[in-house]
Amino acid sequence: MKALVYMGPRDIRVEDVPDPTIEEPTDVLVQITSTNICGSDLHMYEGRTNVERGKVLGHENLGEVIEVGAAVRLLRVGDMVSVPFNVSCGFCENCERGLTGACLLMNPPHAGAAYGYAGMGPYHGGQAEYLRVPYGDFNCLRLPEDARDKESDYAMLADIFPTGYEATERACVKPGDSVVIYGAGPVGLMAAYSATMGGAAQVLVVDRVLPRLALVEKIGCIPVDDTMYSPVERVLELTDGKGADCGCECVGYQAHDTEGHEHPNMTMNNLVASVRPTGSIGVVGVFTPVDPKSPDKLEKHGQIAFDMGRFFMKGLSMRSGQANVKQYNRRLMELIHQGKARPSFVVSHELPLSDGPDAYKHFDTRVDGWTKVILKPQVAGGPRGVRAMEEAVEVEARESVYAS
Ligand code: NAD
Ligand code: ZN
Repeated sequence: MKALVYMGPRDIRVEDVPDPTIEEPTDVLVQITSTNICGSDLHMYEGRTNVERGKVLGHENLGEVIEVGAAVRLLRVGDMVSVPFNVSCGFCENCERGLTGACLLMNPPHAGAAYGYAGMGPYHGGQAEYLRVPYGDFNCLRLPEDARDKESDYAMLADIFPTGYEATERACVKPGDSVVIYGAGPVGLMAAYSATMGGAAQVLVVDRVLPRLALVEKIGCIPVDDTMYSPVERVLELTDGKGADCGCECVGYQAHDTEGHEHPNMTMNNLVASVRPTGSIGVVGVFTPVDPKSPDKLEKHGQIAFDMGRFFMKGLSMRSGQANVKQYNRRLMELIHQGKARPSFVVSHELPLSDGPDAYKHFDTRVDGWTKVILKPQVAGGPRGVRAMEEAVEVEARESVYAS
């Protein structure tokens, strides 16, 4: 089959690789129809992880079940499924508690496994024609009959919609709260969308990429362009000097200033400064245990200079980690099915798999409106842009993001 393979920093190629097969009776095989590129993939693309050469990338997968192992009970050939990025067993101590992002069985001795990702186990990803899903009954979410019609919405269920939602859960967002979100990438946008759905009164989103800030405004949130303001001062100004009730980190260890210089502690310390005393912070942006290529001395060892004293004196709380997609994906799917949520507003490009290497290159620059890319392995290569940014924006202008 054709797949997008990591060959080295900024070197992703379309290669022929062996088709996956049923290896365990609990496996299912999925023919991938939508597979997104994630900001997490860019950490690998930029050579900032230890991902091995030859790995098939792709952890945000959706497709059709084409084969099931002998022990699979719930799924049938022909089912359309969303596959959470976490590979989890369903019965270890953590999975039992719903913490599938920290499954103890699938990537020992570490907690947590994922498809096509550095340090997350031997699993190939789904930026390919087919994907093997271990413990298929547990790891696939069967989609309703409108799966094909709303495919670009459902494609957000494998990662960013549940991840953005979990950022707001970790930040304890309640109706009437003010929320500050650092990062208006796809994850930050989903956090902003989720906070609004959860009844937040005021959602402030900090970034500097204009098309992304435009989307922030489009969903009724307040963009904070940090090329124009100190984000902390702006948040304090907009919250009567108190600071936001809740804060979400949706950038991660490659946070940088507006000149492009990396400061891995930048968003964390900005959150400590812009959340009110006793407020809560939810961290979903990725931080890594080692980062030898970081320009920052501490970060090379996975450490940051964190304002711990200020964090303590303000009595702040914080939760972090890989998202537990399965805790939320079924309920978020229902919102899409019932027309209450349309997370595809972040999608800027839908392209054939053969355009994958080019799409990585553009998405990595985060300019010119490359906000979220869905690759379509079943669509033959040809004229680029099955759906381009202009169309997405037009659709957006016609329909309201929230169904009334
Ligand atoms: P992205 O790289 O497209 O978006 C990050 C955004 O942050 C960019 O728009 C960038 O301009 C902005 N940014 C950079 N420095 C900033 C700063 N100092 N202040 C404010 N904004 C700043 O990526 P994404 O897909 O939105 O993912 C965001 C993070 O979430 C990544 O670290 C990704 O790995 C992580 N992630 C985590 C999980 C999880 O399970 N915890 C899941 C998916 C993604
Ligand atoms: Zn992802």
